[in-house]
Amino acid sequence: MADSTYPVWGWGRQSSDEPSAADLAALAPLAAGMLGHDIEPMVAAPLPELPEDRVTRLLPAALSSVASSTPLDRARHSVGRSYRDVVRAIAGRIDHVVDTVLRPTSEAQVAAALEWCADNAVAVIPFGGGTSVVGGIDPDVGDAWSGCVSLDLSALSGLVEVDPVSRSARVLAGTAGPDLEDALRPHGLTARFYPQSFERSTVGGWIATRAAGHFSMGPTHIDDLVECVHAVTPSGVWESRRLPGSGAGPSPDRALLGSEGTLGVVTDAWLRVQPRPTERWSTTYAAPDLATGLDAVRAIAQTGVQPATCRLIDAGEATVTGTLATGEAALVLGLESWSGPVDADARVLMTCCGDLGLRFVEGGAKRAADGASASWRSSFLRAPYLREQLVLLGLVVETFETATTWDRLPTLVADVTDRTNAALREVCSGGTVTCRLTHVYPNGAAPYFTVIAPGRPGSELAQWEEVKAAASDALLAAGGTITHHHAVGRDHRPWYDEQRPELFATALQAAKSAIDPAGILNPGVLIG
Ligand SMILES: Cc1cc2nc3c(=O)[nH]c(=O)nc-3n(C[C@H](O)[C@H](O)[C@H](O)COP(=O)(O)OP(=O)(O)OC[C@H]3O[C@@H](n4cnc5c(N)ncnc54)[C@H](O)[C@@H]3O)c2cc1C
Repeated sequence: MADSTYPVWGWGRQSSDEPSAADLAALAPLAAGMLGHDIEPMVAAPLPELPEDRVTRLLPAALSSVASSTPLDRARHSVGRSYRDVVRAIAGRIDHVVDTVLRPTSEAQVAAALEWCADNAVAVIPFGGGTSVVGGIDPDVGDAWSGCVSLDLSALSGLVEVDPVSRSARVLAGTAGPDLEDALRPHGLTARFYPQSFERSTVGGWIATRAAGHFSMGPTHIDDLVECVHAVTPSGVWESRRLPGSGAGPSPDRALLGSEGTLGVVTDAWLRVQPRPTERWSTTYAAPDLATGLDAVRAIAQTGVQPATCRLIDAGEATVTGTLATGEAALVLGLESWSGPVDADARVLMTCCGDLGLRFVEGGAKRAADGASASWRSSFLRAPYLREQLVLLGLVVETFETATTWDRLPTLVADVTDRTNAALREVCSGGTVTCRLTHVYPNGAAPYFTVIAPGRPGSELAQWEEVKAAASDALLAAGGTITHHHAVGRDHRPWYDEQRPELFATALQAAKSAIDPAGILNPGVLIG
């Protein structure tokens, strides 16, 4: 992969993960069907010549020893994983690029980096796994800076300590999902936190973006798992106490959760962990239409049982993912427990589905190895790899998500689907919008939309921007949030500004000015 730019835009870590001609040929008929014409897959352009690195030669020795300014490293740290990022990078367009990448190996080095950058008017973008889908690591910081540094936390990685008495674990921020689970497994413990980006995203990134794992109910947001956070800010260390709960004023941890690298660099955190599950149960039902499925999910969410999986998938997406090909919506249900049988909870779920007229498809006591829920799981895990292949074949492929209360949910789903479809017809001459519920609460749920549409070579980004704007306007108009778990970044900023209370924006800006007086941390994201 010597000259390959795959590390800049691809999902896989191995050169063998890069889509091959054979992979693309296998998918080409499907993509051609959507595009309405034969396909010439995109060929990734070579890395362009990058602007001069303004920073590395000025760094003091203590920082230059952890700096890297190879073109591939600079480019990789300037490109996230949104559709726009992937398309731009494949086309060899690295519109904004960091000058250098710093990989601190200690908290003292993080502090030294922040101090040097503040003194030298250099912007700093904390970097975990670089999986942001909202422009969170895009170094589009404006011209006011004499440089921009990516602060990559990967050298601050690993499990530091386990407290088996309290069932907590102290983890360094740069720890990626698989490494966290590998380290906890010998202790018989799990963080039980599996975002779809698990393979590549990090503990620090999860905290900074308030990420959500794939479980539908119960503790599924990183917020639910954080016991305390340790961060380095330009004004000193921010560390809260380890506490199971606290009523002592506004929570210092909450201020860092979702701060998206604008207030401090998370260096480590204590997370609540738990024994690994010993009991699992799953089943799939079919609903004649989405509305009936929504009623069933609401009924389930309001029983008090908290299924690990309660994923309502509309008919279109159920077909595409191989979950159910009958034209019905699929409801995949799952329970997990480490403390005893799940049979009583399973009966409650099955009763709800039966009462609302859903059709039993499969499942029960044992998880089917190749049934509907297994198909759903496997398509969930393969999605990031599949997406990059479809992008190379010229399709616009992107997701967006929101949440709202049950009273508004059916209308929101209908409005957003209609307005996104209208935008697709206008801008792409067609395409599909599908929807599933990713997270479920007693008082509402989080619908997640997937868009696949024909792109016009060279115009894909303009097409997507129009569709995304129409969808985002529709989300807010229907009473949703601009994001349930993908974060704000640069891409959602206009809608976030509209959504948040003005006084809160003022307070956040004041906090930022106190903690980061030079404003070096991720300028333009959330604040400023
Ligand atoms: C295929 C795919 C699937 C995804 N699935 C999910 C999902 O299921 N659930 C979900 O919530 N999200 C998902 N995401 C979005 C993304 O993975 C999350 O936002 C994730 O939390 C980002 O973690 P990261 O380590 O990659 O952070 P990065 O992308 O590197 O950074 C994200 C933001 O956090 C800041 N940041 C990173 N590390 C730190 C730190 N140590 N201190 C301070 N700030 C920091 C960055 O500056 C940036 O603003 C998905 C993305 C992709 C591409």
